[in-house]
Amino acid sequence: MSNKTISSEGATAIYQPDAVFVEEGCKDYPFAQKILSGLSNVPVYEIQDAGELEKQFKTSQPDVFGEGKKNLVLSRFNGSFLKKCPGASPGMVCCNYYVVNLSKNCIYDCSYCFLQDFLNNNPLQVAYVNVEDLFRELEEVFTQHPDRAFRVGTGEITDSLALDCLVPYSQMLIPFFNKQKNAVLELKTKSDRVENLLNQPDPTNVIVSWSINPQQVIDLEEKGTPDLEKRLHAASLCVEKGYRVGFHLDPIILIPGWEKAYKELVDTLFDFIPASNMEWVSLGSFRYRSSLKPIIKSRHPETLLFTGEHLPGKDGKFRYLRPLRNNAYETIRGFLQDKSKEMSIYLCMETKEIWEDVTGKTPRSDEKLDMFFDL
Ligand code: SF4
Repeated sequence: MSNKTISSEGATAIYQPDAVFVEEGCKDYPFAQKILSGLSNVPVYEIQDAGELEKQFKTSQPDVFGEGKKNLVLSRFNGSFLKKCPGASPGMVCCNYYVVNLSKNCIYDCSYCFLQDFLNNNPLQVAYVNVEDLFRELEEVFTQHPDRAFRVGTGEITDSLALDCLVPYSQMLIPFFNKQKNAVLELKTKSDRVENLLNQPDPTNVIVSWSINPQQVIDLEEKGTPDLEKRLHAASLCVEKGYRVGFHLDPIILIPGWEKAYKELVDTLFDFIPASNMEWVSLGSFRYRSSLKPIIKSRHPETLLFTGEHLPGKDGKFRYLRPLRNNAYETIRGFLQDKSKEMSIYLCMETKEIWEDVTGKTPRSDEKLDMFFDL
């Protein structure tokens, strides 16, 4: 672990919501107080029920999902935080991984984001403030199953770090996971705001992973996200601090000239991060449920996502045709292997047949594979 002062100077501006809504009974939670203390310039409204607010919001806003991102609701989560990753779908190879949903929605606006459909009825950005309940539950489950190794991600229906400067879950999650003997935390992100991570003394039980794409794809399809070099700079700071890091080249989008674009992406990745410091790289192609397509077309008319043909798979999701996916995986895997033969490369949310076509073998549900889920 490095003792140097590591700075995230030059990172993208910190997001500020237009308004904060605090659900009844939530404002006295210490975590709510902490969040509110960082938002002194933002109007704060107390509300009885976030569900009611969401209903009003839905009827009064033309782009509910986009508008939802501008408002933050502090709420209490009732129920079990920890759940098995829902990424395992019929016909797909995956997955033995756990998720905790501490917040929902995301400040970024990627054209392909499944949340546009998934959260269409609950569009507001919500952060749950009863973190004491979360830690009690996790401690109980981890202790009850001392022989099981838990990998826990927070990025299923949000970006794990995009809001971390304002809603600093990482400041509590990292020390908590570092005390666990049988659990590792995975933070999955497109953010470059890693200062809370750099300020933690111990990076041991944490993996930080970045979703990356060629800058052309970021410009067109990942609105509001930090550019590629900012993400990779943030990743390099985390490496320097001693965190384990991984990269998701996902979703791969077959824009005109994709081979050159993904070759350059791989070159840039290795310019910033030595192969020996990458835990793994995962590859996943663009996929969507049919209900998402009209939403994407209406919210992102300039998108290039639908320029090719897509067919539904066993899980009902549409993907590029199998030969195109095979070719893309083989090509990009080749770029990665040209840089490093030893590197762990996985396919995310893919069929057994594609695994066999691309890698020549059927994957086992091994420990590293467990972490690749469908976001
Ligand atoms: S960063 Fe992830 S969660 Fe956020 S908009 Fe993009 S795809 Fe959705």
